Amino acid sequence: MYKASENRYDDMPYRRCGQSGLLLPAISLGLWHNFGHVDVYNEFRKIIFHAFDRGITHFDLANNYGPPPGSAEENFGKILKEDLKLYRDEMIISTKAGYKMWSGPYGDWGSRKYLVSSLDQSLKRMGLDYVDIFYSHRPDPNTPIEETMMALDQVVRQGKALYAGISNYSADQTREASRILRELGTPCLIHQPKYSMFERWVENGLLDVLEEDGIGGIAFSPLAQGMLTNKYLKGIPEGSRAAKSHGFLQKEQITEKVIDKVKALNEIAEKRGQSLAQMAIAWLLKDKRITSVLVGASSVNQLDQNINSVANLHFEAMELEAIQKILK
Ligand code: NDP
Repeated sequence: MYKASENRYDDMPYRRCGQSGLLLPAISLGLWHNFGHVDVYNEFRKIIFHAFDRGITHFDLANNYGPPPGSAEENFGKILKEDLKLYRDEMIISTKAGYKMWSGPYGDWGSRKYLVSSLDQSLKRMGLDYVDIFYSHRPDPNTPIEETMMALDQVVRQGKALYAGISNYSADQTREASRILRELGTPCLIHQPKYSMFERWVENGLLDVLEEDGIGGIAFSPLAQGMLTNKYLKGIPEGSRAAKSHGFLQKEQITEKVIDKVKALNEIAEKRGQSLAQMAIAWLLKDKRITSVLVGASSVNQLDQNINSVANLHFEAMELEAIQKILK
């Protein structure tokens, strides 16, 4: 039987999510890859225990995480039931709906029909009465944004979710979603965008909207799915995400140009006494509008290294300039 470490709250910083009452750990764990039925149960179980032992209170899922879709929620539910039940009130569990989950017209995008029934399925798979955060996973150009936001408001009022979030919405869509949710009485807690040294679209408006509207930000794929680490410096290792047939990182994305940048960034990280993964995480956390950085991990060692990035979140102006020059 798992027993959580007594020191679990000693090192992890907790940051306020926008202007809400909720604090999130600076590092959160995502279950997109490595927690499906294709993966090894005893391995990812260890990763989850280790995360919790080191102060990661927030676990991020979605209906379709696996593969097969739904299996990450099933596995997480099993671990919750068997080992973590006692700690439910110390955990922030999120899930989402917005990408294709089942066949026919009601298993995709942003209708009230899809979002509400998908959340019901997610709760069943995880064996939960409620999730802490429920997200609209992506904006739906063919559904009125009011309908999608009303679905989020509905599930919060029903007690199936405590907070509402959005993911992959542009700055303008976020402003609109936030206005509607506020009018409905369920303010938008959080936005989950893709954000890393290699993917900086959020800096062109979205982060400003988050600050103005008091919404927290949680960055997904902060390591660019592993490219912002030293793992691809000497080719594509066996078992890595780029080597897996079901991995979302394609070999073709790891170009010579990318590797040149990674090498240059790696040198700066070494001078800071950090790994590149640690520097890439710290670089995101330097901005207070980023409440939490949502990492993935395929081993306890990786997770440990990523959590240790909180030991040095400070950047000298010269370091930031040097990084900026490489990323240009
Ligand atoms: P990352 O960018 O952190 O990539 C994680 C991968 O990088 C790991 O699986 C591992 O790859 C590698 N890695 C991690 N740490 C290290 C390390 N220290 N050294 C070497 N390699 C390392 O994040 P993800 O792309 O996994 O996304 C994180 C989470 O964000 C997801 O789980 C999900 O919760 C969320 N997300 C949300 C989306 C949305 O649309 N809202 C979309 C995508 C993600 P390897 O397996 O090769 O070892």
